[in-house]
Amino acid sequence: MNIYRCTICGEASIAEKRPSDCPLCGAKKRYIKELEKVKGDDLFVVKKLSDESKKNLLLALNMETYNASFYKCASVNGDVETVKAVFKRLAKVAREHADIARKFLGLDPIILQEEECSLVSAENLQKAAVRCLEAVEFYKKAATEARESKISTFFKAMIDAEEEGGIVAKKMLNSGNQ
Ligand SMILES: [Zn+2]
Repeated sequence: MNIYRCTICGEASIAEKRPSDCPLCGAKKRYIKELEKVKGDDLFVVKKLSDESKKNLLLALNMETYNASFYKCASVNGDVETVKAVFKRLAKVAREHADIARKFLGLDPIILQEEECSLVSAENLQKAAVRCLEAVEFYKKAATEARESKISTFFKAMIDAEEEGGIVAKKMLNSGNQ
């Protein structure tokens, strides 16, 4: 039994082997390290945050909060139980992404909004796939603009996590699960 920690969101995992993805934020295996190799409490501390990074972190915070709110709606409303279960997971991941951005900015904990979604799960999946694609494009741009290594690493990890979200949404659409 070993203890691992995600360097992106700080979540600890207890497992035999290094997890392939962070169970909380979806960061890839390369961001998960043995607990003792991850510095304790300064994961979200950046001494001098540039205006550019502040702006992009705020955009990320708003985008992920919006997505989390939409996914939460789609986890309750919809006509396919398996799709609703997947949206429950996507909502948790997006909420965690928003939470990381707000920690870098030193803001108060986020509150999800009331968002509208469809009663047809397939329509929600289509929207989710688009949202993930838009997020990938945003994070690619943000990662190139970030001069602080922690912020750049966070944005890069989000590119992979959002790509995965898009793949999941498309897979569910094509699986006949909707
Ligand atoms: Zn994580």
